[in-house]
Amino acid sequence: MRSRPIGFLLATLAGATFALGGVSPASASPDAATPTAPTARTATASGDIGTADACYTWGGTLREGSSGEAVRQLQIRVAGYPGTGNQIAIDGAFGPATKAAVTRFQAAYGLAADGIAGPATFNKIYQLQDNDCTPVNFTYAELNRCNSDWSGGKVSAATARANALVTMWKLQAMRHAMGDRPITVNGGFRSVSCNSAVGGAANSRHMYGHAADLGAGPQGFCALAQAARNHGFTEILGPGYPGHNDHTHVAGGSGRFWSAPSCGI
Ligand SMILES: [Zn+2]
Repeated sequence: MRSRPIGFLLATLAGATFALGGVSPASASPDAATPTAPTARTATASGDIGTADACYTWGGTLREGSSGEAVRQLQIRVAGYPGTGNQIAIDGAFGPATKAAVTRFQAAYGLAADGIAGPATFNKIYQLQDNDCTPVNFTYAELNRCNSDWSGGKVSAATARANALVTMWKLQAMRHAMGDRPITVNGGFRSVSCNSAVGGAANSRHMYGHAADLGAGPQGFCALAQAARNHGFTEILGPGYPGHNDHTHVAGGSGRFWSAPSCGI
């Protein structure tokens, strides 16, 4: 599906994509152990991961107590499974919250739910991601209708883009939980000037890459707002909140603020 037959070549290219995207395994986590280069791997009797992936290939099983870039990459992919009202840290430290998120991810996809990320878990993630590391049902372009380079926000372009990636994985989790029906994303990242142009709040999470504005789609605004509570969105604004009768706004980041009075939130 995503060019597995030439995975080795793409893996090399993906390294460059990582660097541009601000999630470089070599630089993002100073305390990371030897970064796992996204190289092709083959299955072995010892249970190594048997699938080469053009985005990122894990080198071995991760469990509570593991740390480093491989854990951080895993945390990005399971960020949509923190439990209701919660958000997991993307910090490369595999603690109880990460274990719980991995367990929920596994359960959501019918895998053995033990909170240990091994071949079955990684292969499911490979199925769910594109070569640029976005989940299959969302794109960087959808999450940025403001400019082409993620510049001009309240954080660096690399950070804004990395934050948007986490937002997309949260949306992918929410989409799956809601029956795998399409979720319409009308916008995400805004530079300060884009935010001003649309009358955004002075400290809008859109300027950090954390936010997405969702269209009604087949679900309706309220169902989206209600489901978002379970998938790592600490900020939810929907119908009944000023300016949000025509979309549902979801965002991660610090502090919880949920308001969609017409939806009982
Ligand atoms: Zn918004």
